[in-house]
Amino acid sequence: MSRVYNFSAGPSVLPEPVLEKAAKELLEYPGSGQSVMEMSHRSPEYQAIFDGAEALFREVMAIPDNYKVLFLQGGASAQFAMVPLNLFGIAPTADFVNTGTWSKKAISEAKRYGTARVVATSEDKKFSYIPKLDPATFDPKAAYFHITTNNTIEGTRFRSLPEVGSVPLVADMSSNILGEVYDVAKFGIIYAGAQKNIAPAGVTVVIVRDDLLGKALPITPTLFNYKIHADENSMYNTPPCYCIYMAKLVLEWLKGFGGVAAMQQMNERKAALLYDFLDNSKVFKGTAATEFRSLMNVPFTSPTEETDKRFVKEAAAAGLVNLKGHRSVGGMRASIYNAMPEQGVVKLVEFMKNFEHTLT
Ligand code: PMP
Repeated sequence: MSRVYNFSAGPSVLPEPVLEKAAKELLEYPGSGQSVMEMSHRSPEYQAIFDGAEALFREVMAIPDNYKVLFLQGGASAQFAMVPLNLFGIAPTADFVNTGTWSKKAISEAKRYGTARVVATSEDKKFSYIPKLDPATFDPKAAYFHITTNNTIEGTRFRSLPEVGSVPLVADMSSNILGEVYDVAKFGIIYAGAQKNIAPAGVTVVIVRDDLLGKALPITPTLFNYKIHADENSMYNTPPCYCIYMAKLVLEWLKGFGGVAAMQQMNERKAALLYDFLDNSKVFKGTAATEFRSLMNVPFTSPTEETDKRFVKEAAAAGLVNLKGHRSVGGMRASIYNAMPEQGVVKLVEFMKNFEHTLT
């Protein structure tokens, strides 16, 4: 069987050259006589891999020196708790923009440790847009202001960042980190699970500004404390070693591609192909408000649930897999992360055109 085009929302497609390199080095990492999976995380060989991953992250995202880059476990879901635990020592309250399923989870987890105020929500229209924000409603004494930059399930993204003044802006960037250019200096904390644009599932990247370390609530478990991980360079306990190695390979590939800005341009081209088709289709409809459409996740519907089902099945038979929409939204969703080649989107649009002919 040949490789399919995988439109999964995560874990998702990885760049083919990365998988090839990992396969080549699987048994023996050059010069070490062993697999990366077998290395001690305290060995010089592994430390070089780890340092390389961090250096590349810093380089491609232009992360300023006053930020730490942590490689943790527990997924972005653990960050829903870690962020309030680590920042509610400043003040036990935070502001949130509720833009979807993942924001809601961040909000409900923060509520376990303090006050989580929702300053705006798009729940009235099934989170199909990003709500307008009025900085006059923000709490200037909040410990942080939380957004989800890209809403994986609903297919929306923030087009500009909120004006938060001196309150640290915290972003769940799980589904568009490395896919769009961001000025890291605008954020207090950026966190992201790896399994979309970084690596296989298993590592969570946290980029945290130095002055936000050491503010944790006393109840914070040791392993949930950013300062512990920062002081120990993410080696307080065993890190997800192999995932970090894979992240390094992905970052090398991304750098070779021309970096995040070049990647964003390609992502814009891919998204435009799909949205242009959807906008002109008599059969398919995009579900997110045009102004806020995601570059990474494109949810859409066909006329009925029946035709949705048939579409997903026939697409899979044609080598275009994982197009079923999230169970909470229905319909279809094409996730077109960094590693999805342009050709994959071209094929998908061709398939959709042919499918449309069968219905009209
Ligand atoms: N936030 C966003 C935006 C996500 O897309 C996801 C996963 N799809 C999560 C959080 C949860 O991530 P994890 O499964 O790694 O905990």
